[in-house]
Amino acid sequence: MTFIIDLRGEEKPIKKVPILMDVKEVQKLKKYIANNGALFIPPYELELPKLPEWTNRVYYYKQYKMNLYQFTCSCEWWKNKRKIYPVGDLRLVCKHLYYKISSSSKLLETIDDLSLMLIKSYLFHGENMLLKAVLAKEKLTFYIGARYFGDWYNVYTKAGDNWKRYSYSMLEKRWSYDRVPEHEKIILDYLKKKINLFKNYFNRKD
Ligand SMILES: [Zn+2]
Repeated sequence: MTFIIDLRGEEKPIKKVPILMDVKEVQKLKKYIANNGALFIPPYELELPKLPEWTNRVYYYKQYKMNLYQFTCSCEWWKNKRKIYPVGDLRLVCKHLYYKISSSSKLLETIDDLSLMLIKSYLFHGENMLLKAVLAKEKLTFYIGARYFGDWYNVYTKAGDNWKRYSYSMLEKRWSYDRVPEHEKIILDYLKKKINLFKNYFNRKD
């Protein structure tokens, strides 16, 4: 199951907010969404790309059994996440699957930059809220992710043909490593406008 808040009626175009969560948080999330907007359970839009068919077999990592093609693993972490997320969801990639895939340059090539960055941010940095911005007028799509409210935000946006990740500190008003994305002003205006979504979510009392 996946949750997307649809902020219909607020403005056009429709903004969707996929939220990345742990099992124990599901009930809290449901309550939050119910209080803040409509609840949808669509397939998560950032689905994993298909790996080549020859990966449809059993792989081993330590004591775990995996199928890379199906993105399944026998570990407890995976089993718990599977209670929330459908097969094919980026958030179902456990460390074992990640290490196995990333140790093969051939397989790495089959996964797009954005998916790979989001997998890493969720798996290793606990980024558990992700906001998608689709700005029709500016013809711009980008994502903003955070682990908590208040300081650093990751911005995923295109630089030329490739997706890149940039990090912005709201407290220090600066980009990390002075790496500034294209359309900086539009992105920061959007973030400031939507900052309450992060605030409400992370500071919710439930
Ligand atoms: Zn695993």
